[in-house]
Amino acid sequence: MKKIELIDVGYYVVPLESILVDALHGEHKNFELVTATVKLSDGSIGTGYTYTGGFGGAAIAKMIESDLKPLLIGKEVLPPEQMMKYMNTRIHYVARGGIASFAISALDIAFWDADLKGRSIPLCEALGSKSQKVKTYYGGIDLAFTEKELLDSLQKQIENGHTSVKIKLGKADEKEDIARVKAVRKLVGDDAIFMVDANMIWSVPQAIRMAKALEEYNIFWLEEPTNPDDYEGYAKIGQTTTIPIAMGENLHTIYEHELAVKVGRISYPIPDCSNICGISGFLQVAKLAKEYSLPVSSHGMQELHVNVLAGLENRGYLEFHSFPIYKYTIDPIQVKDGYVEPSKDPGVGVNFDWDILGQYKQ
Ligand SMILES: [Mg+2]
Repeated sequence: MKKIELIDVGYYVVPLESILVDALHGEHKNFELVTATVKLSDGSIGTGYTYTGGFGGAAIAKMIESDLKPLLIGKEVLPPEQMMKYMNTRIHYVARGGIASFAISALDIAFWDADLKGRSIPLCEALGSKSQKVKTYYGGIDLAFTEKELLDSLQKQIENGHTSVKIKLGKADEKEDIARVKAVRKLVGDDAIFMVDANMIWSVPQAIRMAKALEEYNIFWLEEPTNPDDYEGYAKIGQTTTIPIAMGENLHTIYEHELAVKVGRISYPIPDCSNICGISGFLQVAKLAKEYSLPVSSHGMQELHVNVLAGLENRGYLEFHSFPIYKYTIDPIQVKDGYVEPSKDPGVGVNFDWDILGQYKQ
């Protein structure tokens, strides 16, 4: 019987190269990374992590240290999904869907990593695929860029190997949003996959109006047009436009994802392993999506999600997010012709370069 011997928590504040802005969250000057490394009694070690846009990371680290660690040290190791449920039943009362989902995510990923490293299996292989490259798109956080800066930034990403892009919308002047979409469509060409993301800023009537105006630009999906709690609003928006609707980064329980699919009738569920209770939570959403014949895509932490999506039959798109966590790993992922290859390393495939990351430790 394997037991949990040690849990080591790390909290990092990593500066971004430039200030990134979206419609609702304001400026991002840095991102936070919370890591959890577990050591099991058979000697296997695994590391998991979660991230934020700059707020809440210290509270997540504290919850792991003060609440989850005492629950777990000395406990028998169960399969990851059971570990995830065990952690959830103990702390959901105070933090359901919030900090709890982030804290559990870091530990869930760590347990997956330790288990797979112990068995010398890469994550994508454990999920079903030996080496399946994953379609990706560049996800800019670019609302504050001038139109020229926006186009220059996307051109740079195209030169880096991207073939698909997503931009932020939600300018105070709707005409400016439309002009940016028109300019980006011209830059990427008629056939390129091109998504837009309003980061929840519009009312339902405004989202309906904007979706109508965007239809002529062949938008692949419209992400988070309105408040993610308004599932009926999502259904209304989806019914009035030909553009498929996407959401998921603000849904932090499987129940919320069920509402988005069943009530909100979205076309593209986009969970994130950092806030949906880890890989175990992400797989629940992937299963839900499959039941509704939908693909599952990912938000953020592309260095991990490539290895999850590569293993799934109903894989959708990997977001290549603007928080470059991958730059702090050994053997960082690379984009080639719009695809990313999964890791062949045993474990979840994300091994941090602690020397580089260490300078940002709090
Ligand atoms: Mg988004």
